[in-house]
Formats: sequence, C-alpha cells, structure tokens
Amino acid sequence: MTIMNSLRNTQLIMNKTRTDLRCTVCKRHRATLRPRKSKLQPNMQMFLCNECFEDKREPRFLVILVARDKKNGGLDKVRDYIRNQRYYGDKITAEELV
Ligand SMILES: [Zn+2]
Repeated sequence: MTIMNSLRNTQLIMNKTRTDLRCTVCKRHRATLRPRKSKLQPNMQMFLCNECFEDKREPRFLVILVARDKKNGGLDKVRDYIRNQRYYGDKITAEELV
C-alpha cells in the first residue's frame, strides 16, 4: 500500500514536470519554450513554442474571454486575433463570443 502510494506520487511528479514543458498556447510538448507576457492579460506569464511565439499567438480561451468582456475592450480588442487566427485550435465561432 505504502509502496503503491509512493509510486503514484513519483508518477504525479513526473507528469507535472512534463506538463511544465508544454506550450501555453498549443499545449504541445516542446524541449524549448520561450517566455512571453500575454498581451491580453499582462500579468499572465506564458511559455511558447517557436511557432506560437513567431505568430504572436494568445491562448484560445483567453481570446474568447476578452471578446466577451465588453467592459475591458471586448471584441474590438481581440478582433485581430480572431481574424488572423492568432490562437491555436478550432476556429472561434460567433456562438462562443456571446
Ligand atoms: Zn505552441
């Protein structure tokens, strides 16, 4: 029982370490990630793969959140991100923005 628990704990730690090496935007594992502060949420530190870094991507959920937040700029603030697909994943639909 004790051995099982410590095995499980070791695995959790390993998973955590691996998770930390994922790109904040596309969630893919990368050996090297480049740090950047989010433009949409300046106190959010991101770690990006080269591709997301070069395309100046932001996390998809964050683009949607900002678009919905009319008090803080709303859709106008992220129009460019949506139009140029500067996020990773499925195309953001109009339904997701209301
Ligand atoms: Zn990425």
